[in-house]
Amino acid sequence: MARIGVFICWCGENIARTVDIEKATAEVAKIPGVRCAINYKYMCSDPGQAMVREKIQREKLQGVVVASCSPHMHLKTFRAAAKTAGLNPYLVEMANVREHCSWVHHDKEKATEKAIGLIRMTVGKVLRNRALDPIKVPLTKRALVIGGGVAGIQAALDIADAGCEVVLVEREPSIGGKMAGLSETFPTLDCSQCILTPRMVETGQHPNIKLYSYSEIESVEGFVGNFKVTIRKKARYIDIDKCTGCGECWTKCPSKKTPSEFDYGLANRTAIYMPFPQAVPARPVIDKDACIKFKTGKCGLCLKRCQAGAINFEDEDKLITEEVGAIVTAAGYQLYDIGKDQPNAKLSGYGEYGYGEYADVITSLQFERLSSASGPTSGEIKRPSDGETPKKVVFVSCVGSRDNAKGISYCSKICCMYTAKHTMLYKHKVHDGEAHVFYMDIRAGGKNYEEFVRRAIEQDGAIYHRGRVSKITRENGKLIVRGADTLVGEPVTIEADMVVLAAAMRPAVGVLELAQKLKLGYDEFGFLSESHPKLRPVETNTAGIYICGACQAPKDIPRPWRRRRRRRAKCW
Ligand code: SF4
Ligand code: SF4
Ligand code: SF4
Ligand code: SF4
Repeated sequence: MARIGVFICWCGENIARTVDIEKATAEVAKIPGVRCAINYKYMCSDPGQAMVREKIQREKLQGVVVASCSPHMHLKTFRAAAKTAGLNPYLVEMANVREHCSWVHHDKEKATEKAIGLIRMTVGKVLRNRALDPIKVPLTKRALVIGGGVAGIQAALDIADAGCEVVLVEREPSIGGKMAGLSETFPTLDCSQCILTPRMVETGQHPNIKLYSYSEIESVEGFVGNFKVTIRKKARYIDIDKCTGCGECWTKCPSKKTPSEFDYGLANRTAIYMPFPQAVPARPVIDKDACIKFKTGKCGLCLKRCQAGAINFEDEDKLITEEVGAIVTAAGYQLYDIGKDQPNAKLSGYGEYGYGEYADVITSLQFERLSSASGPTSGEIKRPSDGETPKKVVFVSCVGSRDNAKGISYCSKICCMYTAKHTMLYKHKVHDGEAHVFYMDIRAGGKNYEEFVRRAIEQDGAIYHRGRVSKITRENGKLIVRGADTLVGEPVTIEADMVVLAAAMRPAVGVLELAQKLKLGYDEFGFLSESHPKLRPVETNTAGIYICGACQAPKDIPRPWRRRRRRRAKCW
């Protein structure tokens, strides 16, 4: 006769509120093969686990059922407890009476019946379980990091510094991500480049990091410890080993100017171009669509100028296979599409703000480039339309965020802070300028964040209006911003020279395709899902695959990679 022990957890009130625990315990005790059935408030706590161990030994249990939460949360916990009590851990199973029962039902009687049914089935499973011995398989002590923004760079450096090889894949021609284009960072106003570029260089030179820039993940096979990853190295038309980065090619390229991706269209680049001066690798790339040679067969000037023989018009995409044991996804974010309203297009809109129609209505990332010393105006705040210094700038927060009508209900978390920063940067450069902010609420949770916003208002004189902007039009060379100040209960109209829209953060382009390749879950907005927000905040439900940075949720720079989880990357 089998001897199964059943341990029913209350989970405080989480289960006990909906399931009649005493009734379930009494019913479960009658199941053939069940030796004992007991319940406790918090089964995963130290006394709860001690209870499981004690019963295993005293009752000589041959199997255990813990009726509590998802096995994702605590199967390891209870199997470890059983092991220390001398029971083979694979004779422990969990009945999920929380997520599968108490959390999804209200009718206590029916929920209790269902819980008893779930426990009965799990007892049946344990009765058929066999003691197992774990097997050992060799694992590859290398990690893949997808995405070379600040989160991916930091993850790659942490893992590489721990002594493991890292394969870092970045789809743009250089690592650095969005942070490489920022001017200064809140709340200290540190120069973004000063923080990031040494890390970019370290990443490019680290003996444990193999960098694939201008590359994308084609496919992923295998399992934790042994993934086989196929990487598509896109044709760059430059041999980066031969190239010296001398610049002879792009300074002479006669192609029609193309809007620079790095400057978000505020400046132009040539067909052969270096993404930005601090790029890593510091090598150019040819944009086939803009190159005269590819379009007409003529030109080839860069080929003639290149002393190193690095130009190769015959270059093709290459597929490379790498073997890794773990994968960190740091795919980053993009801004909400604030172009014209597109019929039937979800997650885009705000045509009423005139972005794309009026040159002086720009995004927050464009404002970063305008205020950056490495930007198209060398850090001087100039209007894109005519290069004049704007004397009145309106900053609009929550553009896209917290707006169910536009498809995004969440708060993008960082825009209150960077908007305050933008007003400061503007006022520090245009002393006689006026900075107006339209906001819904100010969300400034973080060390010195609230003080930073106060400084923008009290010291630097930013004028905050609590209310939404309804429309922006252009009249007589001015942008007419119409909104409301709900605190004074009056409509507000400002004649502005420039408008900066704090657009919502969204997962980067291609994240969903990547999630499908990696078999990762994602939420309704496309952000990648962690296994558990508190217990496994950077793990996914696919063993061996981790997430960090803004592909998980809107985050600011100090939170790309949760420090308390760093040890995991080191222990394998
Ligand atoms: Fe019980 Fe799980 Fe809640 Fe812990 S987390 S108290 S085991 S249901
Ligand atoms: Fe590289 Fe040749 Fe261009 Fe110099 S001219 S940057 S070596 S490709
Ligand atoms: Fe520029 Fe293409 Fe001419 Fe080279 S061949 S110089 S990339 S237009
Ligand atoms: Fe709006 Fe501020 Fe949240 Fe951004 S952080 S969505 S501006 S409340």
